[in-house]
Amino acid sequence: MKEGLVIDREAQMIGVYLFENKKVYRGIPRKKVLKKTKIYAGDYVYGNVVDTGTFAIEDVKERKNFLVRPPVANVDRVVVVTTLKKPEFDNFLLDSLLIVYEYFKTDPVIVFNKIDLLDDVEKKELERWINIYKDAGYDVSSVSAETGEGIDSLKDFLEGGISILAGASGVGKSSILSKLVGVNLEVREISEKTKRGRHTTTGVRLYMFQENSFVGDTPGFSSVDALYFMDKKDVKNYFREFLRYRCKFPNCTHTDEPECAVKEAVEKGEISKKRYNSYLKIIF
Ligand code: GDP
Ligand code: ZN
Repeated sequence: MKEGLVIDREAQMIGVYLFENKKVYRGIPRKKVLKKTKIYAGDYVYGNVVDTGTFAIEDVKERKNFLVRPPVANVDRVVVVTTLKKPEFDNFLLDSLLIVYEYFKTDPVIVFNKIDLLDDVEKKELERWINIYKDAGYDVSSVSAETGEGIDSLKDFLEGGISILAGASGVGKSSILSKLVGVNLEVREISEKTKRGRHTTTGVRLYMFQENSFVGDTPGFSSVDALYFMDKKDVKNYFREFLRYRCKFPNCTHTDEPECAVKEAVEKGEISKKRYNSYLKIIF
């Protein structure tokens, strides 16, 4: 059997990219497959070409993870797009998104967009934020979808597998998507048919932007409640930098317990106060 990737999923339509010949087919799942599972964008499927345009799906690979909004399987990384300006940087929203995507077992990375808008003072401020997130254990890059600055290195960084662009609306997700994918592909189609795919929860589409590298985007979130997804007591496990410390009590919530190594690290400046405050804001 041949291996394909579901890159287009809307209503009854399944678009399968076949790795062998790099062509896209209409996927038709066999009944036995449908009995076992639904099929989502990001699913790796196995089957055979049955006529020029059709790929019969015989099996679906077990998913390593699954995002719900929009439904995409096997996400290798979520690119959380943010900006220092326009819209104003919201570190609490960023921290909430990072922990939620980590909870979904995807690897979140951070991209600051619109760096063309920054003056020297703001560039310094951006640098400080970038260091906070690098110290916390995240990959961070900065780009301008407007001028193209940083886009090539972002492309290299996202090489291989499935990347999903996430973040508040207006931060430039679709602009980055167009820059990554290039004008040659159907990006124009997205902007003309904006209602399709991007802004519905049912239609999802992944775009190939280089060999074996796919990218898709999500509807913009202007807020996210981490506690909708996870238990309060688990939030601390998704603040990466907290995991480096051992407190006196293994179930320490890093709030008012004695000999809390995390609080000590905040006092010493090893953990950013801003990150710690986001943690408190989420759990209280
Ligand atoms: P989305 O809602 O996250 O998909 O954001 P869009 O891609 O629609 O971009 C929102 C607005 O920001 C649009 O007017 C874009 O032209 C603008 N924009 C996107 N990227 C940049 C950038 O790097 N620099 C500047 N100055 N504007 C940008
Ligand atoms: Zn503690």
